[in-house]
Amino acid sequence: ITAQDIVESCLDRIGEVEENIKAFVTLTPEAARDSARKLHEEGGYRGLAGIPCGLKDNLCTRGIRTTCSSRMLENFVPPYDATVVSKLRGEKAVFMGKLNMDEFAMGSSTENSAFFPTRNPWDPERVPGGSSGGSAAAVAAGEVIYALGSDTGGSIRQPASFCGVVGMKPTYGRVSRYGLVAFASSLDQIGTLTKDVTDCALVMNVIAGHDRLDSTSIDAPVPDYTKFLVPDIKGFRIGYPREYFQEGVDDAVKETINRAMLKMEEMGAVVEETSLPHTEFALPAYYIIAPAEASSNLARFDGVRYGLRDVKAESVIDMFASSRALGFGPEVKRRIMLGTYALSSGYYDAYYLKALKVRRLIKEDFDWAFDKYDVLVTPTAPTVAFKLHEKTDNVLAMYMSDIATIPVNLAGLPAMSIPCGFVNGLPVGLQIIGRPLEEGTLLRVAYAFE
Ligand code: GLN
Repeated sequence: ITAQDIVESCLDRIGEVEENIKAFVTLTPEAARDSARKLHEEGGYRGLAGIPCGLKDNLCTRGIRTTCSSRMLENFVPPYDATVVSKLRGEKAVFMGKLNMDEFAMGSSTENSAFFPTRNPWDPERVPGGSSGGSAAAVAAGEVIYALGSDTGGSIRQPASFCGVVGMKPTYGRVSRYGLVAFASSLDQIGTLTKDVTDCALVMNVIAGHDRLDSTSIDAPVPDYTKFLVPDIKGFRIGYPREYFQEGVDDAVKETINRAMLKMEEMGAVVEETSLPHTEFALPAYYIIAPAEASSNLARFDGVRYGLRDVKAESVIDMFASSRALGFGPEVKRRIMLGTYALSSGYYDAYYLKALKVRRLIKEDFDWAFDKYDVLVTPTAPTVAFKLHEKTDNVLAMYMSDIATIPVNLAGLPAMSIPCGFVNGLPVGLQIIGRPLEEGTLLRVAYAFE
């Protein structure tokens, strides 16, 4: 089987299902065919060479438009590749196109895309999760073999959970953010969506590592992640923090997670209840810190340097204002207003500074737990995939779907979501959280469980 065969089979699949799933913002079949043909002619099949993948549309791709699913960047064609994209290019990966997302990665259902919502392959009446909903749906539907996403507060893990695929959010700094359109820079991290744990290790092997183009990237050696794929967790200490199993979490989801933990016990792991006492403050702290950073990061979209410009405006100031009014959707505007307010003088100490202190307490909870446990496990999301429109009018309900994933970003830790069962025919995700830079341990636990 050749690279062309695999590309054609993915294109066939896209032809069959894409009309209903709508995972792609931009499809690049000709470029994909070209790179497959070139690889085949030149030879060099190894690793990820020739394997079709998709990219969340906030990862810059030279010559291919990168929209962040926003009117603001609808026609933006970056002049450079994100580091993860050049790394994959170096491995001769085949890019099938750019995947739908919540606008600027703000959301949990992909319904905040300015273009169209993506649908869950398990049930087209339901959302795929978000914000990397296009990435998760494309992998789940077999349109691509793997995809990259970004995770600021759960945006890889929650859609992975809803779509029944494997999602990895690496340690903050493990994967270069160069060329990822910034949302909340101290939380954003690029990661993987794959069909299984082995693929996750293979893609991590390519994208992890230091990059001098990202000043927050960690200069530490990258292990061969496939070395961790051994089906043995005997003696592993696994904690489940009780705060993640309280009200708001669907009973059937809880039961599914409990069964997963029993299975880990049967495999010889020691599974114990533990506590992360500051968990309840994570969501409020996140919704100060993330909008604060977003309000600053999104200030660059002023109609002058990037993207959409209202050419009818009569003065420069009007042009700034009306370009932003036209270019951003309601959720993005809400975040900019929240963040600008939280950072304004007089409120800075009360909100932003307080949120940073809470963030520290949350990090300390995890440090304390990891003195005792190798990994922590929780449900990835409180429910299975919900219906389209179910939460669009209730912002808080939407925000709550990341209650279990957000603390991990505040603490900068690595975490994975792996499929662990079904409720009413819909997949349930198990979240595994690890110590900084211990992605390998996560892979080992996930592999043993799989
Ligand atoms: N749903 C969260 C938010 O809207 C997380 C988004 C993300 O991880 N990019 O902020």
